[in-house]
Amino acid sequence: MNRPIAKGWCPSALHPMQSGDGLLMRVKPKYGMLNSKQLLVLADCSDKFGNGLLDITSRTNVQIRGINEKNYSNLILKLQTEELVSDSDKLDRLNIIVPPFIQKNSLLWRCASQIYSGVEMLPFLPDKFGFCIDYHDSRYLSDELGDLFIEVVSGSKLMLRCAGMKEAFYTNENNLINDIKKIIEWYLEIQNVQKNERAMRMRDVVEQNNFPWETIKKIKEPFSQKITVGRYQSKFILAAPFGQLKSEHLRKLAAANKKVQFTINKMLIVESLPDTNLGLINEPQDNRLKMNVCPGAPHCSSATIKTRNLAESLAHQEEFIIGTNVHISGCSKGCASPNSKEICIVGNEGRFDIVEKGYAWDKPAVKCSTQTSVLEHLKETRS
Ligand code: SF4
Repeated sequence: MNRPIAKGWCPSALHPMQSGDGLLMRVKPKYGMLNSKQLLVLADCSDKFGNGLLDITSRTNVQIRGINEKNYSNLILKLQTEELVSDSDKLDRLNIIVPPFIQKNSLLWRCASQIYSGVEMLPFLPDKFGFCIDYHDSRYLSDELGDLFIEVVSGSKLMLRCAGMKEAFYTNENNLINDIKKIIEWYLEIQNVQKNERAMRMRDVVEQNNFPWETIKKIKEPFSQKITVGRYQSKFILAAPFGQLKSEHLRKLAAANKKVQFTINKMLIVESLPDTNLGLINEPQDNRLKMNVCPGAPHCSSATIKTRNLAESLAHQEEFIIGTNVHISGCSKGCASPNSKEICIVGNEGRFDIVEKGYAWDKPAVKCSTQTSVLEHLKETRS
């Protein structure tokens, strides 16, 4: 079966989206970083204008959930006053992901700074378009996270690479914005995208068209870097269970840290752990790390099951969950993972469809009417 087409758009701060629990708006921390003051502002805004729940997105952004429409303009005003949100439409839809542990003023950091400050010189970007800034030989960011990759080679050289291409071309700090502009203009022109029309992703464009510039063909095969929760030298990586944060998490993090980096895999890099029990994942063995779970009911209006309730119950079933990758999806759109999983449990008119080794939109092998029957079925077939 083909993947159902997702409706709607990528929400941002200036373009919130209606969801099952109210409006949803996305704050995009620059360099993925929030300082302690900003963490507290977000926590207070979430409690005052939303429902106290926030999400970390796969592209390292933070979403405030459950916003009452009447509160939205006050919320925006507060976030703009605190410089967490811009009034520029181009900056509002700009997506930049940097690698974990980025150092301030490093070459990677300076590349991100150039795009933040040069965005007004670039064409109006599609809302899903994303820049990834990473090391070339030792990559943290996978191709599905972005469209245009700015990669540092051998410590000091810069390359530009379109998602889906193995080849790239050299650029440098002086020419970076002009070279980016050139590629984006080609990408938009070739598919004739008008403002606010849905654009193709870069990987599809380069697959269907000849890239017009000469590229370096022989590039060293990159090594994929992985991160998981635990101690990393003087820092700690934590994960939000299924990507969900509560305002109290932000307050506890702010009390112990001058800044926090929101990073890939819905994880956070912190300098210190709070003294009290934080409620975030800090053990790499935690079963919840093996699960892709969308917000589900009541947070998404397309969902007919409470995905996170089921996920928490499954996470405690040591005997059959060990080593198993699970996707729990409120409906067959499968937002939480575009990849095939050993088990997908998919909401369908309040029932739980189970797909074995496949995608959320595949034909289910079994249909269960209750959460208990899902657990019983998995116990029988997998223990
Ligand atoms: S997969 Fe989940 S988040 Fe996506 S539309 Fe369906 S219920 Fe909503």
